[in-house]
Amino acid sequence: MISQTSSAIRTTRPGSGLLCLAAIAFSGAIAACGGGEDSTAPSASTSTSAAFSSADRPNIIIITLDTTRADRFGCYGYSKAITPNLDRLAEGGALFSRAYAQAAVTPVSHASMMTGLNPYGHGLRVLHGTELTRLAEKAVTLAEVLAEQGYDTAAFLSAFPVSEYFGFDQGFSVFDAEFLVQTRETIISDGGVVNTGMNQRRADKTTRRALDWLARDRDTPYLLWVHYFDPHDPFVGPPTELLDSIPLPEGLDREGVLLELYDAEILFMDQQIGLLLGEIEKQSESDGQAGSVIAVLSDHGEGLGDHDWWSHGKLYEEQINIPFILNGPTITPGTQVDDVVRSIDLMPTLLELAGVAQEARPPIEGLSLLPLIRGESETTPRLAYADSISKLIYAQRKNHQTDRLFMLVEGSLKFILHLQHPEQSELYDLATDPKELINLYNERPRDVRRLEASLDALDFGRTRMRPEPRDDIPGDITKRLEALGYLK
Ligand SMILES: [Zn+2]
Repeated sequence: MISQTSSAIRTTRPGSGLLCLAAIAFSGAIAACGGGEDSTAPSASTSTSAAFSSADRPNIIIITLDTTRADRFGCYGYSKAITPNLDRLAEGGALFSRAYAQAAVTPVSHASMMTGLNPYGHGLRVLHGTELTRLAEKAVTLAEVLAEQGYDTAAFLSAFPVSEYFGFDQGFSVFDAEFLVQTRETIISDGGVVNTGMNQRRADKTTRRALDWLARDRDTPYLLWVHYFDPHDPFVGPPTELLDSIPLPEGLDREGVLLELYDAEILFMDQQIGLLLGEIEKQSESDGQAGSVIAVLSDHGEGLGDHDWWSHGKLYEEQINIPFILNGPTITPGTQVDDVVRSIDLMPTLLELAGVAQEARPPIEGLSLLPLIRGESETTPRLAYADSISKLIYAQRKNHQTDRLFMLVEGSLKFILHLQHPEQSELYDLATDPKELINLYNERPRDVRRLEASLDALDFGRTRMRPEPRDDIPGDITKRLEALGYLK
């Protein structure tokens, strides 16, 4: 169902490409990073001996793309070909054109994927400031359920916010975040000292570790989660040769360079995913059994100047609407689903594809996506919930509100409740205003009242949202978060 990657990269004259401009834009940060990182291409495993014994339980692969906007994919209409491998994966399976994350904050969003619960349900509420929490032990994760069903489980992570510190190791027999204990050269960025080696790693390093694991012999199906972080920030860039091979328009300003870097990071990530998909396909062909189900989605997008925002954490489409691709032996190639779907729908979908009996599943708010993939219409359309209660991310950025935000998407309507200042709440009709420029909150009070009632019906607990402040956060944790830009 998937195609082998092509790793061909355009070449151009040395010194004319993105690398040079990046070095100028970041006062040497990127150049130092590119030179300091190991740019050796990973060697794909040549093993084809890995096998799974069950003839009816597929391998499950989840690839999460941190900070990756849907509109950067060719299969979502982007004009630049920076995602050829993921585009092919989408062609061979199902693409969801209106998928929503449940938060635009890395740990909170990933926790919704891995539990099938909205943020108020899984309990990992906030990342920022002194309100750190972790995924509760009582939360039941996809990995825990599949491990119970005899799956071999492994995760290969690329950044601290999805590490064991936040409880994401639950259910994994292999949980690889080795960069957390590494030391690397210090890189000076615009924002101060950033020791990236302790907090994140580039896609090739993560891929290499995952390929090594894939090469092992096994007699059970597996769950493999691979997380990529490259587009999150410009401090760990693609290899020098890739950056230098990208021809650029003349006269780019600093923001223009940032946009090009963002695309280059996605291109590099896609190339690495191509290596991973190629190996998985090779193994599936040699096994000739139940094959592999591959889900690709991002945890959130990124404001690249949209809504006057160069980060994530808020609830506008460029940050909360995500790419979502599902490929597998029972999924008809070329399927496109235009209904509203959510990250919380991932877990029940994968459990159904893995044949896990209903009684073996924990309570889940999400719903299987398979009926929509089969083209069945649903009498009650799905409502997409998301929230943003990370106070500090706003408070420390001038001219931005500090309110707590709650989103509900119902069909084309999108409602964003501002909890403390409801008069500033927002309502958009995405069918006519996809960029969310015209706030209809005051013009359509009946829609507002209905959507607010739907929010209340979700029991999102307006009065219970504030987690208990923690004062026991170790100093090194604070440093890691600062280095990733969360506490600036
Ligand atoms: Zn993230």
